[in-house]
Amino acid sequence: MDQEQQHTTRTCEQCGGADLRTDQVRSAFWHEDRLVVVEDVPALVCGACHEQYFDDATVMLIDLLRGDGFPPEEARSELRVPVFSLQDRLRRDKAP
Ligand SMILES: [Zn+2]
Repeated sequence: MDQEQQHTTRTCEQCGGADLRTDQVRSAFWHEDRLVVVEDVPALVCGACHEQYFDDATVMLIDLLRGDGFPPEEARSELRVPVFSLQDRLRRDKAP
């Protein structure tokens, strides 16, 4: 019966856009001094500003994962990420 499961009547709280679609996203979280990435997160994504909205069940799953300390043995893979410092840019701007 329901042919409109991809469509929603919600509007984006960020930009007021009505183009919200269900999607699977990747999100990064800080856990103490570790940065972790969670993939395959079901979200409602704004087609205009790309703001992401998670439902309560998804937020709870992420909280449980956080409560478990994002166990390294459950990680699918690892990423190496570049780390920047804004200090370097600030120095460059101040240079004569
Ligand atoms: Zn939006």
